[in-house]
Amino acid sequence: MHFDQGELVAVLTTQPLDRTLDYKAPEGGCFLGAFVEVPLGPRKVLGVVWGAGRGDFDRSKIRSVIRVLDVAPMREEMRLFLQRAADYTLTPMPAMLRLATRAPGLGDPLSMRKIYRLGSGMPDRMTDARARVLEVLRDYGGLAFTLKELAEMAGVTSSVVKGLVKQGTVREEDSPRDLPYPHLDPDRPGKALTPDQTAAADTLRAALRSGTYGTTLLKGVTGSGKTEVYLEAVAEALRMGRQALVLLPEIALTAEFLTRVEERFGARPAEWHSGATMTERRRVWRMVGQGDAQMVVGARSALFLPFRDLGLIVVDEEHDTSYKQDDGVHYNARDMAVLRAAICGARVILASATPSLESWANAEAGKYDRLDLTSRFGAAVLPDMKTIDMRAEKMQPGTWISPSLRQAVQARIEKGEQSLLFINRRGYAPVTLCRACGEQIACDHCDARMVEHRFLKRLMCHQCGETKPMPEACPACGVEGKLAPVGPGIERLAEEAEATFPDTRIAMLSSDLFGSARALKAKIEEIAEGDADIVIGTQLVAKGHNFPNLTLVGVIDSDLGLHGSDLRAAERTFQLMRQVAGRAGRADKPGTALLQTFQPEHPVIRAILSGDEEGFWRAEAAGRQAAGVPPYGRMAGIVLSGPEVGPVFDVGNVLARNDAPLRQIGAQVFGPAPAPIARIRGRHRVRLLVKAPKGAPIQDAIARWIAPLRLKGDIRLTVDIDPQSFY
Ligand SMILES: [Zn+2]
Ligand SMILES: [Zn+2]
Repeated sequence: MHFDQGELVAVLTTQPLDRTLDYKAPEGGCFLGAFVEVPLGPRKVLGVVWGAGRGDFDRSKIRSVIRVLDVAPMREEMRLFLQRAADYTLTPMPAMLRLATRAPGLGDPLSMRKIYRLGSGMPDRMTDARARVLEVLRDYGGLAFTLKELAEMAGVTSSVVKGLVKQGTVREEDSPRDLPYPHLDPDRPGKALTPDQTAAADTLRAALRSGTYGTTLLKGVTGSGKTEVYLEAVAEALRMGRQALVLLPEIALTAEFLTRVEERFGARPAEWHSGATMTERRRVWRMVGQGDAQMVVGARSALFLPFRDLGLIVVDEEHDTSYKQDDGVHYNARDMAVLRAAICGARVILASATPSLESWANAEAGKYDRLDLTSRFGAAVLPDMKTIDMRAEKMQPGTWISPSLRQAVQARIEKGEQSLLFINRRGYAPVTLCRACGEQIACDHCDARMVEHRFLKRLMCHQCGETKPMPEACPACGVEGKLAPVGPGIERLAEEAEATFPDTRIAMLSSDLFGSARALKAKIEEIAEGDADIVIGTQLVAKGHNFPNLTLVGVIDSDLGLHGSDLRAAERTFQLMRQVAGRAGRADKPGTALLQTFQPEHPVIRAILSGDEEGFWRAEAAGRQAAGVPPYGRMAGIVLSGPEVGPVFDVGNVLARNDAPLRQIGAQVFGPAPAPIARIRGRHRVRLLVKAPKGAPIQDAIARWIAPLRLKGDIRLTVDIDPQSFY
């Protein structure tokens, strides 16, 4: 659909307005979906032509679109996806458009850079430096280099190259900065697959060839070859000329994974993650839109890239909680992947060793297909899992490694194998207590205790990130020298390990100990190559890293996740323990997982040990069904926040009293109550929970419920449909 110059068009902008704005189409007209720059007050803003203008405004006052950007227009499928995602998450459209345009400089003219290649002129005199430059250019045939690359490879200064340009010996050219990605070849021979894996790959390939939407849950333990299997589905999408997107939790986006893709297809895919530079992001965004990136490997927001013909979305580690975005737009990338695929006729593969209960239930109900990979790749077997009953262990005060676990680690050290000690707590100690008055040091801005980080020599609030130096005296009673750490964090466990196992190499893996994701990934690779005897890690070690020489996993506190009020506490503990245990025993060495617990008879601990996963899911599903909670009922969290607690509660009470739109659909509202974390960054938080029967139109009812509300002052309201955690 094309609009001629002067015709009215409705433009959706990224500005927080509740409607599209009318503009006149620019000289040369514009297509529906075109990315445009429009005037808004004194500013120029980015927008998309969303349809015909409404014409309900004085035509003489309507301004013109400034220009159409030199990028592929947004496809109808993408506009529909943003609209449905907005309806589902109750997010205003401008916020959705911001998600879909998170690449800087989209409005800039195609950026160029200088490149250098061999010219024909002869230099007036030849020096050693000049000869080296010519040698590099001749060695690489007709290839072109940037100035920096060429100078570095020849070991000369850039002025040497510039001198040769003047002589015509080296040619300087302009070249677009954003180049297409190298071609991926789906027909290179892949790894040899086992019969089990071949059968699964065949099923996925056939599903792709159908060309219609469908979702498959691909379940397989660590090492069962899930990646190899879904890469065959990617290959099929590429053969069909369609694009593939593989989503990974940010931290699992490792060089190791990209290398596997490169081995399979002969080149690296496009990458989309928080560590990518602005230039890389813009290149991915543009190339995806024009079909010059066949495959993207990315974090959750890659779902909002403007694919030209998306044929497959893989959500790896689909149970991972990091797929849920909990600030700004509250969306779950797993659910949005299914939505996007349904709109564009793509296939979805949800891969996991420990699926979310939602996906398990969808497969049970026949909404998703399910494929199980049972045998581990190669000869390795699942680790032998046992509990260590902490009630029977003789523990020194202030220590957490039991004698039984110590023995097991010692045995691994003697055999030259690695052990992992797992504790899901960052920092040195979760609580700092005054032994004089009982005060626990808390954050000044949040309803949370400060966590001591000895590595940083500070106390840190894990809610708001605020830090302060460790005080000498108790802030409450002023007594000096009585502040004491209580409970273990990863740093304190490392201290204990160093004392218990002298002369061993100990590596600590926690997200906050490294300046950047890249530094962390480098460390992980060093460990995989055998650079440590004992690895001490938090949750991030559970995510897909392969440590081939690791044969023992010791879980310091298996009970940590069992006590939350969160409805997913049991599910999360089950998944986490199974994932962590799965780190032990790869390749040809059998592994052991030891779980320290004070309640070895707890049903979740027993389910983890028995390995009866289906039994665990069935019991968990029955419990949730009885309670009418997700996935057998619907929930939404409403959080109100503001600087004063009183007015925030008042708004919550107004909402609770006027719940007619909710009652009409059979939904109930609970609260207002202080949110589990009642204050974050100085803002008081009050929560209401909406619970509705499965299938009830909860978004529509909530929209009608909150519409009459007029928020005064600095009070904010956020809606979280299908909340993952209740914070
Ligand atoms: Zn005190
Ligand atoms: Zn705080």
